[in-house]
Amino acid sequence: MKKTRNTRQRGVILDILRESHEHPTAEMIYRESRRVLPHISLGTVYRNLNFLRDQGTVREIRPCEGGSSRFDRADTPHAHFHCVRCNALLDIPLPPALESLRFEEERISAVSLIDLHVIGSCSSCGEATTN
Ligand SMILES: [Zn+2]
Ligand SMILES: [Zn+2]
Repeated sequence: MKKTRNTRQRGVILDILRESHEHPTAEMIYRESRRVLPHISLGTVYRNLNFLRDQGTVREIRPCEGGSSRFDRADTPHAHFHCVRCNALLDIPLPPALESLRFEEERISAVSLIDLHVIGSCSSCGEATTN
């Protein structure tokens, strides 16, 4: 009975994730989705994100040092670079050694997700303070 509405909400959320390259937080997705669905609540956005994550359609990227989770579509395997200065989250390719892990490691039979997070500062923020 609520199926059509849920499908529509999920479609809107997936469109936002497809168009955004910033890895938005649930709050950002909520603000964006209200342009299309003015009556949607933040709780509904969270519920749909959790559903899509459990289903494997959406990836939740948990920040290393607190802060809000960021969301991404899960259709292409990639790693993330996190700039600690401006909080940008950039897509970076997976190292080939990790991509071929499942073929080279006898102890692994299937890989469902590689969650690789590289931390530093992006080129717009300049070099990291290394001390
Ligand atoms: Zn930066
Ligand atoms: Zn990503």
